Amino acid sequence: MPAYRHSIASKLPNVGTTIFTVMSRLAQEHNAINLSQGFPDFECAPALRALIPKYFNAGLNQYPPMAGVPALREIIAEKSAALYGTSYDPEHEVTVVPGATYGIFTAVSAFVRPGDEVIVFEPAYDSYVPAIEVNGGKPVYVRLQYPDYSIDWQAVGRAITPKTRMLIINTPNNPTASVLSSEDMRALEGILRNTNIVVVSDEVYEHLIYDGGQHESVSRFPGLAERSFVVSSFGKTYSVTGWKMGYVLAPKELMAEFRKVHQFNVFVANGPLQHVLAEHMKDRNAYLSLNAFYQQKRDFFLAQLAGSRFKPLPSRGTFFQNLAYDAITDEKDSDLAVRLTKEKGVAAIPISVFYHDAHCDRVLRFCFAKSEATLAKGAAILRAL
Ligand code: PMP
Ligand code: GLN
Repeated sequence: MPAYRHSIASKLPNVGTTIFTVMSRLAQEHNAINLSQGFPDFECAPALRALIPKYFNAGLNQYPPMAGVPALREIIAEKSAALYGTSYDPEHEVTVVPGATYGIFTAVSAFVRPGDEVIVFEPAYDSYVPAIEVNGGKPVYVRLQYPDYSIDWQAVGRAITPKTRMLIINTPNNPTASVLSSEDMRALEGILRNTNIVVVSDEVYEHLIYDGGQHESVSRFPGLAERSFVVSSFGKTYSVTGWKMGYVLAPKELMAEFRKVHQFNVFVANGPLQHVLAEHMKDRNAYLSLNAFYQQKRDFFLAQLAGSRFKPLPSRGTFFQNLAYDAITDEKDSDLAVRLTKEKGVAAIPISVFYHDAHCDRVLRFCFAKSEATLAKGAAILRAL
């Protein structure tokens, strides 16, 4: 391409390439075991794959309804009511979307105006802040308290100003693997009472929660449900991250605004896959069995790490295990992540990238959504350090 000098005032001057792409590419280049980017290295359920030819050969290959295929919206609403006790109207309060990232971005776009403040907890999943900033909003950071990554609710109260338009929460939490309790949710409910603040609740790991813990969806708490978008991802639940399918729940008035943006952002999510998912969702066990499935992987990985100088932090949910390495080196986590990939052959995610000021507690995030053979190989490398 001939060189033309653009003068671009970037809307996202501080954004580079997402860490997940950077680390997965580095892992591939160096043939390292990739425990960085969060995705399963195993196939999704055969029962799910078997539905693909059925629905892609059923004459359903044109645009589905804007909000999603009715059968899918209905079964999503049934699931949510059965698990969390709140009924969302499939017609007005459930929208099928091309992935949770899109759902979050669209909710932010629909509500955040230039100058509005949005409270985010750090470390924060890396799509939140760019979504706020590209819409002219201002992220207001509240730091989770290391090492259990709990929330200081008084600090949240202090962060609220007349300009606060939105607050984003994520439980189970990526990258900290912490989960919010019902006390946390009630504290949030109390703080937001009598405000006009909209909540975006990223619940993509709702079915990955361990040691008997319970997922505290915002939809369980009336004072939160009435002001919240609940965002969920089929990618996590059914081990199909490449499908980019998810859904959003919200009260009618909020969802109406969401759909105003959605219809011009993408219009609809993939149609045939919605039919596939609608049928697959009838098997409740497919998602109810996930906790046990992933807890076993977490425990396998931890057992393989026994004797290592890496110190495991609690993993109460998600498919991530964080390991503190202060007993090994005082390197920055981003340097260590690169060095481990290039020199030792195992890739992880440095947690500092999820802080606006690159705050570093010397912790790396490892994804255990992998086969036992892969986890054993990765752990053997880590044990030797
Ligand atoms: N939120 C969190 C916390 C995530 O970890 C992810 C993906 N890994 C997403 C959102 C995005 O999900 P999706 O792939 O459905 O866009
Ligand atoms: N959410 C996944 C993770 O945390 C990755 C998603 C992505 O690559 N954008 O690793």
